[in-house]
Amino acid sequence: KELMSRGLPKRKSITGVNQIVVVASGKGGVGKSTTAVNLAVALKLLNPNKTVGLLDTDIFGPSIPLMMNVQESPLLTKENKMIPLVNYGVACMSMGFLVDEKSPVVWRGLMVMSAIEKLLRQVDWGSLDYLIVDTPPGTGDTQLSLIQNIPITGVLLVTTPQKAALQVTQRGAVLFQKLEVPVIGIVENMSHVVCPNCQHSSSLYGHGTKDLASNLGISLLQEIPLDPAITKYTDSGKPVVIAEPDSVQALAYKTLGRRVC
Ligand code: ADP
Repeated sequence: KELMSRGLPKRKSITGVNQIVVVASGKGGVGKSTTAVNLAVALKLLNPNKTVGLLDTDIFGPSIPLMMNVQESPLLTKENKMIPLVNYGVACMSMGFLVDEKSPVVWRGLMVMSAIEKLLRQVDWGSLDYLIVDTPPGTGDTQLSLIQNIPITGVLLVTTPQKAALQVTQRGAVLFQKLEVPVIGIVENMSHVVCPNCQHSSSLYGHGTKDLASNLGISLLQEIPLDPAITKYTDSGKPVVIAEPDSVQALAYKTLGRRVC
């Protein structure tokens, strides 16, 4: 409210970056990082001539190092800017590259804001067509920092179809809309499971996402199945779009990529 009443400060673009797509969710564990990773890699596969970056702004629980299989400390340019680590053709930056993975990060809001500021301004992306930004769950300091500081092309909201997740997704959508950040659409993750024996598709939690999307005037861009292959590949640092590029799961992420950019 305070932010809204004060008006928004001038947002400054990230040097060299064209489009910024923020992937957000109300709740944790709904598959936001999995979606961000597969979307970034799918965009690169769909557009080999374009440059794609992935920025992990989850200070407390960075997932990108594991999911993209990139762990080293970044090198610095002469200007002391961090050079992203590249895998699967995607340039990655994460707080996880800078802190020991076993040590907890215990920071207050201001420290989080200043870390975000560094991740936004102290990285040498070169020239990027698309920067996918993975965020922590909820609508907290990180989201506000991003909204205040950079021109976001659009936000992609990831939710599962359970009521509790949909309620917080609604709050997130309203916040972005009020702060004049365009919402590109909603991704319904874990929307159904397909039986590996008979191929029957069952919805696990109902179809509330469709109603939420239409109430908010936002498109439901893609439904992603709950599938053990997605977890298996995510945990082994090889996104399913790379590991099984012709699978139904990979096609779902590629279709999402086409709809987003
Ligand atoms: P979030 O970023 O929202 O906290 P993650 O992307 O880290 O969530 O996903 C949480 C867990 O769920 C991970 O183990 C991930 O592999 C798994 N997961 C995410 N999406 C799917 C899916 N569609 N099918 C199966 N497992 C999934």
